[in-house]
Amino acid sequence: MSSKYDKIIDYAVRKGFFWQSYEIYGGQAGFYDLGPLGVLLKNNIMELWREFFVKQHQEFVVEIETPMIAPAIVFKASGHEENFTDYAVECLQCHRIFRADHLIEERLGVSVEGLGVEQLEKLIKENDIKCPVCGGALGSVYRFLLLFQTYIGPYSPTNLAYLRPEAAQGMFINFKRVYDLVKRRLPFGIAQIGKVARNEISPRQGLIRLREFTIMEIEFFYDESNPNCDVLYENCSDEHINILRAEDRVKGVDKFTSILTTEAVDERIILSPWLAYWMCIAKKFVKALGVPDDKMYFEEKLPTERAHYSKQTFDQMVIIEKWGKLEVSGHAYRHTYDLERHMEFSKADLYAIRQLKDPKVVRKSIVRYDKNAIINLFGSKAPQVFKILASLSSDVLAKIVAESQGDSIVIEGISMPKAVFRVEDVEEKIWVERIIPHVAEPSFGAERLLYITLEYAYSEDGGRAVLRFPKRVAPIKVGVASLVNRDPLEGIAYRIYKELKKHYYAMYLEGDSIGKKYAQADELGIPYVITIDYETPKKADVTIRDRDTKRQIRVPIADVIKVIDSGLKGIDIFSLGYPVIEYAESKE
Ligand code: AMP
Repeated sequence: MSSKYDKIIDYAVRKGFFWQSYEIYGGQAGFYDLGPLGVLLKNNIMELWREFFVKQHQEFVVEIETPMIAPAIVFKASGHEENFTDYAVECLQCHRIFRADHLIEERLGVSVEGLGVEQLEKLIKENDIKCPVCGGALGSVYRFLLLFQTYIGPYSPTNLAYLRPEAAQGMFINFKRVYDLVKRRLPFGIAQIGKVARNEISPRQGLIRLREFTIMEIEFFYDESNPNCDVLYENCSDEHINILRAEDRVKGVDKFTSILTTEAVDERIILSPWLAYWMCIAKKFVKALGVPDDKMYFEEKLPTERAHYSKQTFDQMVIIEKWGKLEVSGHAYRHTYDLERHMEFSKADLYAIRQLKDPKVVRKSIVRYDKNAIINLFGSKAPQVFKILASLSSDVLAKIVAESQGDSIVIEGISMPKAVFRVEDVEEKIWVERIIPHVAEPSFGAERLLYITLEYAYSEDGGRAVLRFPKRVAPIKVGVASLVNRDPLEGIAYRIYKELKKHYYAMYLEGDSIGKKYAQADELGIPYVITIDYETPKKADVTIRDRDTKRQIRVPIADVIKVIDSGLKGIDIFSLGYPVIEYAESKE
């Protein structure tokens, strides 16, 4: 019997959710096309993400869009050029190249995440691991850069560029601009949805491991000494999240435990309150896609497993049948790493301002000079001397004066009597200071969410597929079925369909019988079907069938859109006061 995964993939390809790209040329691993239903489902998932992460936080989260292609300097600064690598190993016989860690994991059934070249080579030798395709011996393990390279314009090879592997750098680079737009208030977040590319070594997991996919990310900036994370207590104070901690994983524990989000922060299990907050929202979001609480958890990464920029990372895992678990999002405490690196490489000022409650008193030396004496000494050259003195900061000038020997000082080749200068110690009150904000990042892969939405929606009823999509994400919201394929019922059905199309993705259901039409609707996960029956021409009403209960209500045609709207918003349509009808449906 085929596994649930195989059934879902077969279903998804048949129904036009997705299929491998470049099929007519034999296909290309790591690339998938989305078909008509896949596009609708993905759009709904992205819209729901926007709703949870951006719209509900719009007073402090804004969305931007930045390019996919970036000059190489961006990924030099971000550390990706140096660190964004996986381990590859080549078969010396057939010359196929594999991901070394995956090959070992498949053979030995243990995780080798975080091991280096020598350790991986040792494992291959000790366990006599051979090429899984031809059985040939394997060569040396080496690091392979996962960034796709290209050139900007005709200036190759000088204008080296990379396709972004994450959207994050677009947000870091725009930090100052958006900080100004949000009136220089911390905390705030920048969100982005966009395509990314990763030159995965040998992707063999279909839609799960792609070389080009859509990422949905927030870089959230806050003042670490005053995180101002009230929403954690407002929105998540009674929300539990499941966590499997790194320290427990090391001890061999593989069961997660449930903990209040706020407690995880208080007990320093999660080091950043904002990381915890977005994890709590991530849980609610993935739940809204149809995954129950007990089927997801956050797995803390070991230091050796973390990306180079992260001080703490939790991967959000969803239990799935095929691989046991699947990472759908990563939550990284990126700390000050990226802003610091971009300041270093670009020399731009990416500081934020912290307002102090009480002023800081600092002692400093300032230098005063006798302007008349300088005019008398230098005559027409005096303005030039003033310009040089003005170009030096007070501290630097004070240091030069203090350290100069004898009666004169020399600045930029001009000698002046020391007596012209007077150093004074003063106290200054400072009300603001510059800080580098800390960053918490939630990052989701849209295609993996699409897969888990399908897996959790998929069920079978008497051998037939029924997709129980949450109503918000269902690709097609409403079907229209004429009880018989004859006028006047068909004509009315078609008119109702034309009206519904103005509001929703709707489908005019076809088939020899009403049972077949309902089966078609269930198979595509359509939450509601409007049926036009013999009563309709007489009473101007129709029935609305609910996919999950198969019960129907009788509703005046004029109320149909109101009822569907309510249902899609999560209101139980059987509570709206319309007569409920239970037809026994025959299986066809
Ligand atoms: P990362 O930046 O590696 O934490 O990735 C963020 C999210 O993108 C992951 O949690 C996955 O949902 C998704 N993702 C990462 N790599 C791939 C891939 N090769 N194909 C599809 N989705 C991916």
